[in-house]
Parts: sequence; structure tokens; C-alpha cells
Amino acid sequence: MILPPATLGMLGGGQLGRFFVSAAHEMGYKVWVLDPDPHSPAGQVAERHLAAAYDDYAALDELAQGCAAITTEFENVPADTLDYLAKFLPVRPAAAAVSVCQNRIVEKTFLQDNGLPHGPFAAIRSEADLEAASAGLFPGILKVARFGYDGKGQAVVNSREEALAAFRGFKGEACVLEQKLPLDYEVSVVLARDENGKVACFPVGENQHRKGILDVSIVPARASACTADSAQEIAERIAEKLGYIGTLGVEFFISRGRLVVNEMAPRPHNSGHYTLDACVTDQFEQQVRALCGQPLGEARAHSAAVMVNILGDIWYEEKDGVEHYREPDWSKLYAVPNLKLHLYGKHHARPGRKMGHFTVIGEDSVQVQQAAMAARAAIG
Ligand code: ADP
Ligand code: MG
Repeated sequence: MILPPATLGMLGGGQLGRFFVSAAHEMGYKVWVLDPDPHSPAGQVAERHLAAAYDDYAALDELAQGCAAITTEFENVPADTLDYLAKFLPVRPAAAAVSVCQNRIVEKTFLQDNGLPHGPFAAIRSEADLEAASAGLFPGILKVARFGYDGKGQAVVNSREEALAAFRGFKGEACVLEQKLPLDYEVSVVLARDENGKVACFPVGENQHRKGILDVSIVPARASACTADSAQEIAERIAEKLGYIGTLGVEFFISRGRLVVNEMAPRPHNSGHYTLDACVTDQFEQQVRALCGQPLGEARAHSAAVMVNILGDIWYEEKDGVEHYREPDWSKLYAVPNLKLHLYGKHHARPGRKMGHFTVIGEDSVQVQQAAMAARAAIG
């Protein structure tokens, strides 16, 4: 077991890394962060910030020498980086698990090979693949296989012609073509798995998106107990098949009453932010525990919760036809006693950029939802 005051290494310096640093600090650990951005949210609060590229081997050597174990908050850290560090110290989750989640073709093939529910899709590596794709995939969504997030690198395509145009627009990069499914709603499962294969699963949340970006998570989800149980079972099977150690997020569609895995995130997940305020142990503490070989904490929720993302859009206010940039009026949120505000310390707000979130907790799910929507309306 890795015990405090050991130093832990974090690859990636975004808000997920920042919450990991807070959790690790509370537990008595130190953290070094590697992220090329000199203003990275996690780098600001860590003991050390190595502002270097993920494939800067001098920086990786420094991390390996200064840290007791390594984890990540960013699924696009090169697998070679994780493999290289694993020669010197524990890296959790391992490169093999992370790389499955890095590429939508590999991810979908993994689901298919393991008999896990997924939507109809085709791997598109060339225009010929698109010509050969089943007509049943239209209308569909063409997604670049790598580096897409928050709906970026995706195009809705109603026909083969539109798909060809979109594929050219993505410069011929490898893609998956998915059938556009009718969605009843979306849910996710966040879980943690330790080195002995023991799993602690958080309650299932319902996720609502706006413009391809997570907007609101509602816990408990409105799914039936049976659907929620199967979502958790499927997520556990995924973690097991990946030999996963750490915190994992699995996104699901519920389409015509049927559960379908959408994608996996080899890290804590935005939809698991509610665990910070509504669960006995949160998803970041679990990440620290799994990384350090500690037993996992209890994942039970003690409250109903609604998490609302705060995007950079609300920093922009139009007055007399002129757009002004100003800090939102946070006092409106502090006025709500059962609301927890989290801001990520990002330098500059841009539309669509995740700047923070808030979670309203309480006993009654309907009241919590009403309070969360009222709070959101109050800050614009
Ligand atoms: P990202 O990596 O950006 O989160 P996702 O694949 O999760 O990409 O897509 C973002 C959102 O777009 C989903 O949460 C869902 O609302 C919608 N979406 C994605 N794929 C499909 C699909 N095949 N059918 C219907 N809606 C989809
Ligand atoms: Mg997604």
C-alpha cells in the first residue's frame, strides 16, 4: 500500500486532475502534475507542475523518480507514455485499458468481442468503407475515432453522400459511423475497481446534454431498478474485461427501452461530480484509493442530487447591443443553502468551456431538481 506522505503523479491538469489533487491532499499525499498548459487547473494546486508535453521523456523520467505511482485524468495521454512509466512504477489504469477507450473503433470492437450491448456501427478508414457501409446506418453520426470530446469531431449524416462529405471534412481521419439511435434518455455509471478486482459502483445518474456537452446529471436516474442494475452490471463487466484499476465512467443510451453502451472514459467522469457532495466517498477519493492499493470507500449516496455544469457562455452578457465579459454573480448561488459551487480556476472563459459546476443536494429528488433549475436560471 502506498501511504502518505508519498507523492502521486497525475497525467493531465484539467478539472478532473484538480479534484484528484484536492482528494489526495486531504488524505495526506503530495501530487505532481504533468500538463503542457502552464495555467492548468490542477497544476496550480499541486506541489509541482511539470509544464511539458506528454511525450517529453525527460519530464517523464523526473515524474518516475519523484512519484510513487501514476494515474491520469485525460484519456488521450499516449499509451506509450503510460507503458514507459510502467517500467518504473505502478501506473493505474494501465496503458492497455486506457488505449481501448482512446479509439472509438477499438472501443466498439471491444464491446462487440465481449458480447456487451452496443449500437450498430461500422469502422470507416477509407471512402471505400463508407461505400460499403450498411444502408441501415443512416441517418447516422460520423465520429472521428480519436481525440473527440464534448461533441467535437462529430457530424450527423443523413445519407452516404453527406457522410462522404463529412469524412473528407475530417481529412480522411479514421472514424466510426454509428446509427443515430432514438434516445429515451441517457445514463452513466461511475465505478471504482481496486487491484484485487473489488468494485464499488456509484448510483446511476441520468444525463442531459446540450449541444453535445453534458449539461445536467440527475441522481437517482429515472431508470427502473432493473435497468439501473443492468447498467451497473455491464459497467462492472467492462471494468473486469479491461483489468481496470481506478475510477471508470461508462455512458449508456436507453433506446426503445434497451440499454446500449455509448462510450467509456478511463478516468473520473463529469457525470460523477455529484459524488463530491452526495456520496460517502467521491469518485476522486476512490481514484486515490485504487491507485495507492487502499480498500475502496463506500459509494452509497446519502442524498438525491442534481449537478449542473457551468460553461463559459455565462461570462458573456449583452447590454445595449454590446457584448460584455464579466464574472457571473456567484452570490446568487451562495444564497442557496443546499447548493455546492465548484469553480475550476480556469484563466479565461470561452463559450462551451467547462468552468465549474454546482450540485444541489436534498432528500426529495423533485425538490432538488426544481432548486437546481431555479439556481441555474438565476445565474443566466
Ligand atoms: P463525446 O466524446 O463528445 O462525449 P459521445 O459519443 O458521447 O461523444 O456523443 C455526445 C452525445 O451525442 C451523446 O451523449 C448523445 O447525446 C449524442 N449521441 C452520440 N452518439 C449518438 C447516437 N449514435 N445516437 C444518438 N445520439 C447520439
Ligand atoms: Mg460522451
